[in-house]
Amino acid sequence: MSEVKKELLYTGKAKDVYKTDKDDEVIIKFRDDITALDGGRRDTLSKKGAYNALISAKLFEVLEEHGISTQYIKLEEPDEMRTQALEMIPLEVICRNIATGSLLRKYPFHKNQELNPPIIQFDYKNDVYHDPMLNDDIITALEITTQKQLDQIREITYVINKVLSRYLKERNLILVDFKIEFGLDKDGNIVLGDEISPDTTRLWDSKTLDNFDKDIFRKGEEGVVEAYKKVVELVLTDEEIEKWNVDKL
Ligand code: 5GP
Repeated sequence: MSEVKKELLYTGKAKDVYKTDKDDEVIIKFRDDITALDGGRRDTLSKKGAYNALISAKLFEVLEEHGISTQYIKLEEPDEMRTQALEMIPLEVICRNIATGSLLRKYPFHKNQELNPPIIQFDYKNDVYHDPMLNDDIITALEITTQKQLDQIREITYVINKVLSRYLKERNLILVDFKIEFGLDKDGNIVLGDEISPDTTRLWDSKTLDNFDKDIFRKGEEGVVEAYKKVVELVLTDEEIEKWNVDKL
């Protein structure tokens, strides 16, 4: 982090948030820590933080180009993102195009069933309660958001899904599902925050359907970082890969 060591505001499972010289901006540092299975599996994988920050930055830029408000300002280092400060909403907004993961464990969908329209689901971001699934009535009764804000979050999520599915398809990746988080800016606008990376999405090779995401780690298999690097190479331009010296991180 640039010259002065900044004050740590918050530390999460895989990212730290630091104060900056500006009240309305923070720096998110993507760490190499990885966890899964409700914290039951954890490891530290060299370069994972940088790969996730590079991928998130790129996907936020793509979304901004399509009119989605994100907290992203710029990458300061390969693993450090300067962002707008947001009051985060404790919702995990999950969007699914293909039935897999917890959906198959909980409901009688067919494996890899196409979901059209996509399914949007809200989980409560709360470790004590183990991220339970919510519905509109629970969300509004708990005053997590208003119904109007929730409707807006749903609409924005559909657009994000469309934009990213197309962008990734052109790069031979299927956007199977993803989890995103939103916050409120100082004017109360809903803004996309957090990250969009292989830690928070399922990405499959269009031809082989191989995973390029955290499912590799969830299954206890090798090659997690190599897969994330592959996503960097598919998602970033050659110029960006050169600029961030991806091969020498
Ligand atoms: P599932 O509910 O099938 O486990 O996950 C659906 C999608 O949301 C996957 O892309 C998964 O990575 C993401 N997701 C769901 N919950 C979490 C979470 O607590 N943390 C992270 N990083 N991703 C999540």
